[in-house]
Amino acid sequence: MYCAELKAVLLEPVAIKRHRQSDRSETVRYIPGTVLRGALAAAYLRRGGGVDDQFQALFTRGECRFGPLDPARNLAPLTAMACKRGGVAHALWDSLWERMTAALRSFPIDESGRNPWKCPECESDMKPLDGYFYDSVEQGGEADKRVIEVGFMHVGIDRLRGSAAEGILYSVEALAPVQLDNEPVLYGCVRATAPEWIRALAELTEEEIYVGHHKTRGYGRCRLVVDNAEGAQAEEQNPQEWEQWSKEFIAYARQVDSALELDPDRDFFFTINLPYGAVVVDPFLRYSLDPADVVDWLPPLPDPAQPDYSARPEKPFEDGKLRCVAARTRHELVRGWNAAHGLPRADEYAIDRGAVYAYQYTGGQAGRQALHARLASLVEDGLGLRLSEGFGRVVVCDGFHRVRSSADGGRS
Ligand SMILES: [Zn+2]
Repeated sequence: MYCAELKAVLLEPVAIKRHRQSDRSETVRYIPGTVLRGALAAAYLRRGGGVDDQFQALFTRGECRFGPLDPARNLAPLTAMACKRGGVAHALWDSLWERMTAALRSFPIDESGRNPWKCPECESDMKPLDGYFYDSVEQGGEADKRVIEVGFMHVGIDRLRGSAAEGILYSVEALAPVQLDNEPVLYGCVRATAPEWIRALAELTEEEIYVGHHKTRGYGRCRLVVDNAEGAQAEEQNPQEWEQWSKEFIAYARQVDSALELDPDRDFFFTINLPYGAVVVDPFLRYSLDPADVVDWLPPLPDPAQPDYSARPEKPFEDGKLRCVAARTRHELVRGWNAAHGLPRADEYAIDRGAVYAYQYTGGQAGRQALHARLASLVEDGLGLRLSEGFGRVVVCDGFHRVRSSADGGRS
């Protein structure tokens, strides 16, 4: 896959309804890949291109994958924690290594009881960070503050008389940019099987695009910029980095509990992160939270009521075995509108953005090499359904998990 970065400037507020009911119009905080793909397809048709071969390559054959447009480049994984009072500016941690270590010790973290995580700055509780952040606090800390949700009241206009229509008053909630030093407001990326598709999309961005609802009422106009479309780079997979991640985790876990029998030559830990979410169904087409339902070599998720690590389900892999160590995941309802059919899309329960799954491989080197290859193809291909709308993008061993809470994390 080739990859190019996207930037979008909101020229008008953008309203993308979270719920379908007409009396509520909360907006989502980003532009989903589905909406971006639809807006670009509409721009293509407006420019006079028909549903030709290039249209199909860009929008329907799955050769391009449109990620969402977010207010920052970093979406926190579901394991991220920030200070309840001071947010990211006080403390930003990741809890995955702690969760993994606790699981290896058959000692699950009790999330119902006392909160074990305190902010080092103000002693307030740490709570899961739901949203975006910048690489450094100086850049603005939590990115959500760069877009604001604004509400507008509208009066319906009588088509015949041009005056206020009786009984029609409605409100719209929308995303509006906070203009900071003329920086583009939303970031995303587009991936394609060949650089020519990225160049074709870059040409399309000469047009303004329209996204979301209420497009005829002064909402949704955006300008897109494709970065470096000429030199779109093939993405790299990096098994050495994954190995390093695993080694650092093992060192951390042994520091927490020296009795843990972990050997960097025999054990390899890795994660599957789903930064854009995923649509996963099991063989009976029921929505699932378990990547093992679509990736046949992965072990299943464990039973959360069974803390004993040695009782976890195992899956043989080459000359070793795989086990799921920890997972942080949840469902998200995905809605959409099919412009071609003029009908709402069927609602789907996707795995939410930021989901994290951690696994342990135990076995020989041959299996380990084979595992690297399998992971590389997951990163390349993604998992689950609706890949061209960004769903199913896989990141392995996200470096964010190194930002762990404290050396005594696994607290006994
Ligand atoms: Zn604090």
